[in-house]
Amino acid sequence: MSEDERLTELAKRRGFFFQSSGAYGGVAGFYVYGPEGATLKENLQDAWRDRFVRREGHMEIESPAIMPEPVFEASGHLDGFDDMIVECPECGASHRADHLVEDETDIEEAESIAIPDIEALIAEHDLVCPSCGTALAGESVEDFNLMFGTNIGPGSSSPGYLRPETAQGIFVEFPRLKEYARGQLPFGVAQIGAAYRNEISPRKGLVRLREFAQAELEHFVDPETDEPPLERVADVEVTLYSAAEQEDADGEPRTMTVREAVDAGVVGSDWVAYYLGVAQGWYERVGVDMDRFRYRQHQSGELAHYAADCWDAEAEVGGDWIEITGFAYRGDYDLSKHAEYGDDDFTIFKQYDDPVTVETATVDPDMSYLGPEFGGDAGAVKDALEDLAERDRSAFESDEVTVAVDGEDRTVPVEKTGFAVEEVTEAGEHVTPHVVEPSFGVDRIVYTVLAHGLRTDEAGETVDEGGGSGAEPSGEEADDGEERTVLSLPPEVAPTGVAVFPLMDKDGLDERAREIAEGLRAAGFEVAYDDSGSIGRRYRRQDEVGTPFCVTVDYDTLEDGTVTVRDRDTTAQARVGTDDLAGTIGDLLTGDRTVADF
Ligand code: AMP
Repeated sequence: MSEDERLTELAKRRGFFFQSSGAYGGVAGFYVYGPEGATLKENLQDAWRDRFVRREGHMEIESPAIMPEPVFEASGHLDGFDDMIVECPECGASHRADHLVEDETDIEEAESIAIPDIEALIAEHDLVCPSCGTALAGESVEDFNLMFGTNIGPGSSSPGYLRPETAQGIFVEFPRLKEYARGQLPFGVAQIGAAYRNEISPRKGLVRLREFAQAELEHFVDPETDEPPLERVADVEVTLYSAAEQEDADGEPRTMTVREAVDAGVVGSDWVAYYLGVAQGWYERVGVDMDRFRYRQHQSGELAHYAADCWDAEAEVGGDWIEITGFAYRGDYDLSKHAEYGDDDFTIFKQYDDPVTVETATVDPDMSYLGPEFGGDAGAVKDALEDLAERDRSAFESDEVTVAVDGEDRTVPVEKTGFAVEEVTEAGEHVTPHVVEPSFGVDRIVYTVLAHGLRTDEAGETVDEGGGSGAEPSGEEADDGEERTVLSLPPEVAPTGVAVFPLMDKDGLDERAREIAEGLRAAGFEVAYDDSGSIGRRYRRQDEVGTPFCVTVDYDTLEDGTVTVRDRDTTAQARVGTDDLAGTIGDLLTGDRTVADF
């Protein structure tokens, strides 16, 4: 079984994730998180919130998933958020043309190749429909917009779209959000929520979904004065696969510190470098295997025209590198676009240290002259005079001034223009902030963390199945040497923190075990209770869902108040007291103590 197959099998069997609407044949690209998966995802999002919102001092918002069409005209999604589609003439299946090319040739980033060239590659490599094997040469490749459209309210007068990214909900609300930041740059706004893309061919479990969760941060900065606190991550080592290395046949990802990457110009933006450093530590914290992880720079063809520098965090799963996060320096593109299309102020007023006095030229034309003289064009003549005064005040130095309106010269006596030069003291200027955007795909990180945490090993442990005090282990389950599946999730993200088992479901052991479980729940832990099957089986069940510790209540517990605590990864066991079991479990989960310390 491949890594993806093993993961998908475990995920379905143990309630991490499975395809939705199975009773109706299933629907591609829509997944359900089962009880284990929903908690794992929530824990990952909490860990993200902790690192990228709370620790950075940013704010978090929640905006609607449906937004009106003009938002996406401004953002460019309506016109340009397309993937390349090719349809099979025989079976009618739709495929992503660039992915077909990538799958069947050595070409890696086919997304940036123009449509006619993709058509030529399909013909040149004799590519066929993956569903039925029919040749696709000669079929036309088209742009397919990925947004899900709808109507807001009855009728079709107000089209809307499900957001293809959470970011627009932040950009559009910038005029309000800047007030909460008291008009001061820099500040960051985060949002965790669903995004929707009508992907042509969803694939690989949670990797390409039609509804997925993003955790996005938009950090608004003054490009002239704001610097990231680079020293905080300067020594963090990152593996960087630069565009230059990708283009070089012998090129390879290189490991260096964030400081070295900035000094050598490998990462062009200090802000992007800062977030690569911060994210590196976060991925490790939530269970990404850093030996199967790298940052890859976008090649020039992949780069959006407004993005100065862009890096993807990539994780290797099942032999493929998947993009789990995008880090982009987006300049002032987003806010400028909304300023152009929207009706609000998308700038920040930047106060000068000392007020600056400037001369400005203004006009205040005599409309009782302009009206009779120019009739319906009087307003346009006034506007043209205002423009000219701003651009070229010397034009008002003679007796008459001439402006062009609709290609026709209109001459006005200067005395009728109300021309004046005034001194104005300005306290500051309006600037459009630049945006640094780390954009995390939560589901892909869930998938990666599960894949990287999943392993099988031989248990090699002895399990007391018999009866506690003085009793010989019964050996009822031959655990020694038996293969076990373990999900080594970091305790912070594991769905369950601790599982409690009564050795037997009788003799008061069950009551004591329930009391202990309740006590741990009251102390804030996620607790599972399991009284069915042998202890060895129960350990295996918890190992598979990543529960870091198990507590077994046996006959000794009733005598001396101790329980067995067992560690998922090492299978080490220790007897610990129940007086402060919550404190002990807390220490074990944070790593302040290990089972070997008892
Ligand atoms: P993008 O806006 O395309 O850079 O996407 C930002 C992040 O969202 C990516 O790094 C992915 O982790 C995630 N993502 C994008 N598309 C999908 C999808 N169809 N399914 C799941 N995650 C996605």
